Amino acid sequence: MTKPLLIKNGFVYDPLNGINGDKMSIAVKDGKIVEESSVNPTEAQVIDAANRVVMPGGVDIHSHIAGPAINSGRRFRPEDGRIGNEPRTQTTRSGSGYTVPSTFVTGYRYARMGWTTVCDPATPPLLARHAHEELNDTPIIDTMIFPLLGDNWVVMQYLKDKEYALCAAFIAWMLRATKGYAIKIVNPGGTEAWHWGDTVKDLQDPVPYFEITPAEIIHGLAVVNEMLRLPHSIHLHTNRLGLPGNFEIATNSLDTPRDVKVESTKGRKQVLHMTHTQYSAYGGDSWGNFESKADAIAKYVNAHPHVTIDLGQIIMGEATTMTADGALEFGLHKLNHLKWMNMDIELETGGGLVPFIYTRTNPVNSVQWTIGLELTLLIKNPFQVCLTTDHPNAGPFTRYPQIISWLMSRKARDEVAAKLHAETARRSILATIDREYSLYEIAVITRAGQAVLLGLNDRKGHLGVNADADIAIYDLDPKSEMTPEKIERAFSQAAYTIKDGEVVAKDGQILREVVGRRFWVNPQVDEDLEQKMLREVSKTFARYYSISMANFPVQGGYLARSNEMRIDATHVA
Ligand SMILES: [Zn+2]
Repeated sequence: MTKPLLIKNGFVYDPLNGINGDKMSIAVKDGKIVEESSVNPTEAQVIDAANRVVMPGGVDIHSHIAGPAINSGRRFRPEDGRIGNEPRTQTTRSGSGYTVPSTFVTGYRYARMGWTTVCDPATPPLLARHAHEELNDTPIIDTMIFPLLGDNWVVMQYLKDKEYALCAAFIAWMLRATKGYAIKIVNPGGTEAWHWGDTVKDLQDPVPYFEITPAEIIHGLAVVNEMLRLPHSIHLHTNRLGLPGNFEIATNSLDTPRDVKVESTKGRKQVLHMTHTQYSAYGGDSWGNFESKADAIAKYVNAHPHVTIDLGQIIMGEATTMTADGALEFGLHKLNHLKWMNMDIELETGGGLVPFIYTRTNPVNSVQWTIGLELTLLIKNPFQVCLTTDHPNAGPFTRYPQIISWLMSRKARDEVAAKLHAETARRSILATIDREYSLYEIAVITRAGQAVLLGLNDRKGHLGVNADADIAIYDLDPKSEMTPEKIERAFSQAAYTIKDGEVVAKDGQILREVVGRRFWVNPQVDEDLEQKMLREVSKTFARYYSISMANFPVQGGYLARSNEMRIDATHVA
């Protein structure tokens, strides 16, 4: 049994409880936040957080850290594996990698920054077992996976036939089988079209053979998501991602499920989360007249609480792009001529990989850099935007501290902007935006808001009584001048990271390896409905697949620390 903890004198930023830099104590017992009166100070470990910032542990809604894509990246890029070597210590395992780090150091690097919960957002259902095995090797952080379900043959057939209840039963089965947490949709219809060497041009362009449109997939899955009362909303990677002029299809995608009502009781307001939106906010009709349309996306988000986004902020330098959007990767390969990998996974999804180097001398990369920041600064409600780099697509997650310094300091981003391609000022409006984020707002976009969007806010993203005792203490004094350098340094290396009430990292040193929880959802639908679905789907499998449904289930024993979230969805019939 670990000792109770008393964190004293810190400046606490806890937006979900309305606490904005108040000097107060946080008490911890048995892995949970408790009332201060229930901890005896003489028996507790006391941490003096004077002149320091205290926040809930960071939450990352979108970061590719485990499973077939990132692992292919490791094998595909041995040159990356030679960067960032971390030797073994008495406590920690060795590891390496910059954009595609190995499993153990992934956990350590998040913990050093004060992050304690991370979502891997794109798992082919058939390969979920692999993702879980890698997450078992990723210490400290709580994790979850989002199975790729948007271009699944069974899903498309049911949605085309408007059989929403049967589709819900199938998705419930898939989430249970894969031990998944949320519905991920990548280039709806476009991933299937790519299997035919084709693409979908707009939201009304039918998918080959299925004759279902991307709009019908987005809307149908939003309906199904709410029928099942899942904690998170649908999580969408838009069509035409990464292409000039795509802001229109992105805005229309945001508008598609506008009539769908939130059925989850967990507190989220959105029915659609659009991920790495930087890649979906492009104007122009060619790379020659490419420009930022972050303002158009932000305008839509500001007027519509049913949508939220995360950034996919560009970091100059090396990245490894990886996505289930195989067509996009082929396009990138043709653009930069670097090595390319493509994957097809049965009839449900695919994927591709291409290394990428973002450079300041390139006008497109320069404008891309401004777009993520513009989105964050133009969206008024920080609960509608999450800080991400779509690790490792736009850059590694280890650069979050630098992005925080850009958001908090106009001077810091002006210094970078001054070195960008000269065309940038004409093609983006970042230079005209004065807004600077406060620490309170940073706490929202890096933990509180992300926890709400995921439906985890009963236990994550806040420091109220009964929350999980996941806490970050940063060596940053909000009463002194917070220079960009100080901000970046403080967030790079938490003074203390506390996970489930134990100090796991201190000043950049990992003190203890703990096993993180794996959250997954188990929606229970009507028994007769499930049996009907199974009879129908097994016929599809027998006819088209080379494997059977029995190949999907990941046995409970595969999860090092399983955290099942059972949902009553028996009303679905
Ligand atoms: Zn991604």
